[in-house]
Amino acid sequence: MFNPAINAETLKNEARGRWPAIMAALGIDVGDGRHGPCPVNDCGGKDRFRFDDQGDGLWFCNQCIPHAGDGFQLVQKVMGYDFPGALKTVSSVIGTCEVGAQLKENNITPEKLRKIFTDSKPILSCGEYCPGILYLKNRGLTDIPKALRYTEKAWETETKQEQRAILAVFSLPDGEAVTMHRIYVTADGKKLPIKSPKKMLPALKKMTGGAVRLYPWESGLLGIAEGIETAIAVHNMVEYPVWAALSTSLMEGFIPPKGVENIVIFSDNDQNYAGQKAAYTLANRLKIGQNSLKTVEVEIPALPGTDFLDLINNLDTSPKL
Ligand SMILES: [Zn+2]
Repeated sequence: MFNPAINAETLKNEARGRWPAIMAALGIDVGDGRHGPCPVNDCGGKDRFRFDDQGDGLWFCNQCIPHAGDGFQLVQKVMGYDFPGALKTVSSVIGTCEVGAQLKENNITPEKLRKIFTDSKPILSCGEYCPGILYLKNRGLTDIPKALRYTEKAWETETKQEQRAILAVFSLPDGEAVTMHRIYVTADGKKLPIKSPKKMLPALKKMTGGAVRLYPWESGLLGIAEGIETAIAVHNMVEYPVWAALSTSLMEGFIPPKGVENIVIFSDNDQNYAGQKAAYTLANRLKIGQNSLKTVEVEIPALPGTDFLDLINNLDTSPKL
């Protein structure tokens, strides 16, 4: 039944910019902005459909009649509703749908992950004017990890274009690669000016316990930090291998690979203590129980609101040190 209280114009305005989230909330797989299968039941195919969005949920399909429409028309076609039915359905989920949510990347497979990897090059083979290298140098970093990769063709869901990106493989405690982290950069080595210039691909498995293995670890101390740039900054100072957990929750759940006996946890000095909480929770877990490590240390930069990347940049510019 159509609820006459729903005003079509009001809802259209309200839905503007929220369509990726609305489609996700309704379980309609519109893909990642590239050509892909059509979500309309009896349509499908491989690459006939493209969700262009443009704020109004615009889409194109070579097979559907008509060949294009807005978000409400796609909801009608996929769910078999008339216009009032689509209005009612969209209004029932819109409260939970954020403006600016991004299109989800298509489900990842080991083959897709491998192709993204092989389509990229080791960052150190890209030359000193490589935007990836420039980005890291612009951030004050040296001794760039061999493990990082670079590509000019990383799909980016906000701009719906291929962009330049630094790629970092994320591995589970047993070494299995399950996803990749990307830092999108400009030609002159700045962060790409989009809402989220750092993005994770979907993961093949649950990421708990894993990290980005920036530098090879064979024996001795292992360091773990949160962000990739922070981990490189710490490595620049301490020289032993430092890995990146990527987030506070992954930091909290990090599992060192077999053989690690001594670990140093490098926390950001967050003013809300999120980083410190994760670091100490990890330290506590690695110190108790049967498999407790020999030594576990936590290092935090002295100044609130800073991380180790800030620290090396201050060291570099200070004439006193
Ligand atoms: Zn179609």
